Amino acid sequence: MDDISTQLLALQEQKLLRQRRIVDGPQGPVMTVDGKPFLAFASNDYLGLANHPALIAAAHEGIDRYGVGAASSALVSGHSRVMEELEVALAAFVGMPRALHFSNGYMANMGIIPALVGAGDTVFCDRLNHACLIDGARLSGAEFRIYPHNDITRLKQLLAKNTSPRKLIITDGVFSMDGDIARLPELLALCEEYDAWLLVDDAHGFGVLGPQGRGSLAHFGLASPRVLYMGTFGKAAGVAGAFVAGDATLITWLMQRARTYVFTTASPPMLASALLATLKIFETEYWRQQHLQERIQQLQQGLADLPWRLLPSQTAIQALIVEDNQLALDLMAALYEQGIWVPAIRPPTVPKGTARLRISLSAAHSEEQVEQLIAALKNVAKNIIPDSRSGEDDEMLK
Ligand SMILES: *Cc1c(COP(=O)(O)O)cnc(C)c1O
Repeated sequence: MDDISTQLLALQEQKLLRQRRIVDGPQGPVMTVDGKPFLAFASNDYLGLANHPALIAAAHEGIDRYGVGAASSALVSGHSRVMEELEVALAAFVGMPRALHFSNGYMANMGIIPALVGAGDTVFCDRLNHACLIDGARLSGAEFRIYPHNDITRLKQLLAKNTSPRKLIITDGVFSMDGDIARLPELLALCEEYDAWLLVDDAHGFGVLGPQGRGSLAHFGLASPRVLYMGTFGKAAGVAGAFVAGDATLITWLMQRARTYVFTTASPPMLASALLATLKIFETEYWRQQHLQERIQQLQQGLADLPWRLLPSQTAIQALIVEDNQLALDLMAALYEQGIWVPAIRPPTVPKGTARLRISLSAAHSEEQVEQLIAALKNVAKNIIPDSRSGEDDEMLK
């Protein structure tokens, strides 16, 4: 125990100790946090669906029909008709032969990767991939090769000298802390050239990118039996859970062998009811994706003069890089004082020296709310760095 206490103290000294804030009421642009209202840019509810009346109604209906628990693994007695309908609808939505539902994204990746590759095979992993892709790859026992972020040239070199019977490239579709999109056309071309599979984790692209939110593959117009497309439902879809879609044989195999599918209780059917409503909204309320894009443009133009830079991103994730851990915390605290909640993200979630404010935009944010954030950030910048006038001062801050 002393050991752990010392380690906790060390985290505190490095400003890396995390704390949770207690939220009352539903997710939304204005949230009650620790009893007070805050304008929030902190969630992944990119389309504002987490509290959408149609989803709530569908969940109620699901409860009335199926109760609240699935009570068993899907392979025993837990696979409800509404879940079957959801899988069929998901496959059609992303334009792939078949889909399989998972309880959440973390478990999906921890199950998919070890079911596909093992000792003697190789997994190729972008350096900025989400933790659960990395953990899934480690668990598989395959060789693990990390390539620099979006570095196709380096990946090609690694593939060219690899002789494994199975090769799997794993990538975020949209990178969760930077907000940029994977170079999927080039990745797929490499898969063709070197006979590899591609697993795309589209936790932040599903619902946001592509026609009607069909995701990052649709954004590029890509389809191939070499691709497994994984999407999650806790972000833009507004609910919880995940799925993987792809070639029918591969999906059948995953149903047999993904241990996080086989050995877990199926998700409550009411979630599938709500998610069928989500898919309808993706298709019928496309204004949400468009409104989100307008807020992204607005933020980028509004913050152009700050002493810190936004990473280039066409997605809801806008990362304002301030580098220093304490500065990131100070900025977060200064905004918090003004009733605005933007999370500071520090190592180990992001590489050392790239601490940032991670601004999450949503279709639920109004133009005025984004304007309020822009004004507050400009104000805070002036107070924290009194002589900062424009981006010319960038070098001084490093
Ligand atoms: C959030 C996230 C996950 C985990 O999904 P959950 O359903 O929340 O477990 C997986 N991959 C990426 C890239 C994510 O951002």
